[in-house]
Amino acid sequence: MAEYINPVVSDGQGNIFEIPGYTMVGMSLSGPIALASRDVIPLPEGSDLFELPARIALAQNNATGELMEISHYHGQAVLPVTAFMAPAYIQIARTAFRSRPNAPTLPLFSYTAVGWHRGRFYVAGKRIDRDQRQDLRNFEQARLDKASQDMLRRYPANRLVEHLVRNCVIRYGCPAARNFVLERWECPAPVSPSCNARCVGCLSKQGNESGFVASMDRISFIPTVNELVEFCLPHLEKAARPVISFGQGCEGEPLLQGELIEKTIKVLRSKTQRGVINLNTNGSRPETVERLCQAGLDSIRLSLNSAQERYYSRYFRPRDYAFEQVMESMRRVARYERWISINYFIMPGFTDHVDEVKALEDLLHEIPINMIQTRNLNCDPELYQRLLGLESSPDGTMGIPGWLDYMAQHYPWLKLGYFNPPRVEMKKYWKLCPRKKTAVP
Ligand code: SF4
Repeated sequence: MAEYINPVVSDGQGNIFEIPGYTMVGMSLSGPIALASRDVIPLPEGSDLFELPARIALAQNNATGELMEISHYHGQAVLPVTAFMAPAYIQIARTAFRSRPNAPTLPLFSYTAVGWHRGRFYVAGKRIDRDQRQDLRNFEQARLDKASQDMLRRYPANRLVEHLVRNCVIRYGCPAARNFVLERWECPAPVSPSCNARCVGCLSKQGNESGFVASMDRISFIPTVNELVEFCLPHLEKAARPVISFGQGCEGEPLLQGELIEKTIKVLRSKTQRGVINLNTNGSRPETVERLCQAGLDSIRLSLNSAQERYYSRYFRPRDYAFEQVMESMRRVARYERWISINYFIMPGFTDHVDEVKALEDLLHEIPINMIQTRNLNCDPELYQRLLGLESSPDGTMGIPGWLDYMAQHYPWLKLGYFNPPRVEMKKYWKLCPRKKTAVP
């Protein structure tokens, strides 16, 4: 790296400072990695910085080139600092640290390498989606407060609107729910209090044995068709670049409410063809997925931590389905010529490892999906490595920048991004896709 980016540490009291004379390094499953200029960007607005308890920062000594542990600075005990990047950014490398024995399990965030240079923070990341729907600067608090109260007044008896406003907007600051009250872009439609998987990193449900808490409470009721149609229809009819998405972080698996979603889509499509009706799902019920396509579903996003069955099963811990059902759901959506995205968990050193790339390519050759939505793995990386039984091998990795280049070069029709696309965006990519869509609406 032409100019050094200094590592940053914390004094454990929330004060962060740089360490001159050292260079920030990153971490991948294959171990510490040196970072090039193209691997780092200024810390995106809307990102958070955390200190990592009972862990020791790793950095490169500029004078000797050696990788060093930094546990103290000027006699003061220090902790590694990490960045939880804002939406729309892909992680190039995670924070380099060594855990002390009995270090507590880290909560459900992604831990990206961060450093300091010329008066600002830099992270090992890259913007993967130009869509600004979740950029912090697009959310003005006063406007949000007014819009939230307007929505509650407009739908006084709608439990789901109440959930989205009081719980998602006001309590959690969910960007998708914020866009709903601002009547634009992607609108969430959670429907399911239960799930048929037990994902290691489930955001809405964690057992006591996991050692960390869920990031949010799961919806506790099943809405009605009327409650859904009441706010989804105006959104489809009036919002800019409208997308309605079943399957949110604050719920279980939407396919378990397949009949409700089917009826809702039928009513919505009987009234308007505008916008996109999308389903974020674990893909566990191919027959239900097919019925939703028949009802008018436009796009589906299936979550995958890996295209290798054994790693998929060790993470999703499915209760009553298997990896084959997920693949079958994709095949059926392909048969109906609908848009297919995978919600692909990114872990440097695993995602870009030749075995995982080969498995992903096998999937792409069988089903030319339309999009990979990259999601930085929101889980303690060492816990994930342990639970999945991942070997840390330095061989056979191409690095995340190399992986992005490889995918773009070999699969030019594939959209690499972060968000469920609106119709106008889909149109551009359908033209490139080998799985031609007979009629692009
Ligand atoms: S599929 Fe979704 S709701 Fe179900 S366990 Fe996994 S993350 Fe949680």
